[in-house]
Amino acid sequence: MSEPAISVQNLYRSFGELQAVNGVSFDVAPGSVCGFIGANGAGKTTTMRIIASLDYPNEGRVTICGHDVMNKPAKVRSLIGWMPDHFGNYSHVTVLEYLDFYARALGYRGKERQMRVQEVMEFADLLPLADRFSNKLSKGMTQRLGLGRSLLHDPEVLIMDEPAAGLDPKARVELKHLIRILAEEGKTIFISSHILSELGEMCDHLLFMNEGRLVHQGDAESLRVHGKQAGVSLYRVHVVGPAEELANWAAMNPNVEFLETLRLGGRIEIDSADPEKAAYLLARMIQDGLKISEFHREERNLEDAFIDLLEATNQPVPNPIVSPPQLPINS
Ligand code: ATP
Repeated sequence: MSEPAISVQNLYRSFGELQAVNGVSFDVAPGSVCGFIGANGAGKTTTMRIIASLDYPNEGRVTICGHDVMNKPAKVRSLIGWMPDHFGNYSHVTVLEYLDFYARALGYRGKERQMRVQEVMEFADLLPLADRFSNKLSKGMTQRLGLGRSLLHDPEVLIMDEPAAGLDPKARVELKHLIRILAEEGKTIFISSHILSELGEMCDHLLFMNEGRLVHQGDAESLRVHGKQAGVSLYRVHVVGPAEELANWAAMNPNVEFLETLRLGGRIEIDSADPEKAAYLLARMIQDGLKISEFHREERNLEDAFIDLLEATNQPVPNPIVSPPQLPINS
C-alpha cells in the first residue's frame, strides 16, 4: 500500500483509571472511505480527537500522510478537515457569513475567498440557505454547514465524528451522497458511527472498536463470515396471527432459535446452513399449525455478525447496538 493517509500505531489514552483507548493500531489507505464503528463509549471520539491533533495520547504515534500529528500539528491541520459530532453555531450569523468568517480565518482573501465559499456552498447545497441564520437550521442543514466548513481549505483527509447521528432518513441519504462524491474525488474519509448498518455499504474498510480496543477490521463481508456464520442460517418468517406463536414454536424446537419479533412475524436462526434442513423445518411449522405467509433466507446483518464476533472471542457485548430502518444506499 502507498503511504497511509492515516496511520495509528499502538495508541493508548486513559482518563484517570479509565483506559479509553487501549493499544489501538490501524492504517487507512489514501482515497478510501473507512468506517469507525463501536457502541457508545467504545473510544471512537477519543481516537479521532487525537488523530485530529486535538488531544495527546499517553502512548503511541499517529501520522497523517506521513506527518506526525504530535510533532507537526500545523501541517496536519492543513491536511485534515475535522467535523466534530457537535459544534457551536452563532446566533445572528448567516450561513454565508459563517463560512466567510472561517474562510478568512483560514487565510483566504478577496476573490479567492469568495470563490472558495461559493464552491463549498454549491457542493453542500447551501446556496438556498445563504441568508438563513446558522442557529436556525434543521439538523440535516446544520450537518451540511459543518461539512462545508470542514472542506473550506480543501483537505485531503476528512474526519467525521458521527455525522449521521440524529438525521432523518432523507438527510442521511443526502449526507451519504456527499460523502460518496468526496470519495470519488479521491479524498480519504474516516467516519464514525455507533450504527453498523449505517456504514456497512458505504465504506471500503471497517474498524470495530469495543471498550477501547480494536476488535476487528475488514470489509462488511469479512465480519459476516466470522463467528457462527458457517454453521447457521437466518430466516425471516412472516405469520398470519401473533408472532408469539412462532416464538413458542421455536422454543419447543432445539434446532431453531427465535431472534427477534418483526411486524409480521420474526427472525429465526436455524442450526444448519443446509437448505434441506430449512425446508424440513418449514414443513414442520406448517404441520404444527403455523400460518406462514412468507419464509425467506436473510443475509446475516452486521449487528448479528458483530455480536457473534464478540461472543466468539469472549468479549463483552455492548448493549444496545442500534439498527435504524434500512435505507437504500444508492438512492
Ligand atoms: P460515543 O459514541 O458515545 O461518542 P465513543 O466511542 O466516541 O462514544 P469516547 O467519547 O471516546 O467514546 O469515550 C470513551 C470513554 O472515555 C468513555 O467512557 C468516556 O466517558 C471517556 N471519556 C472520554 N473523554 C473523557 C474525558 N475528557 N474525561 C474523562 N473521561 C472521558
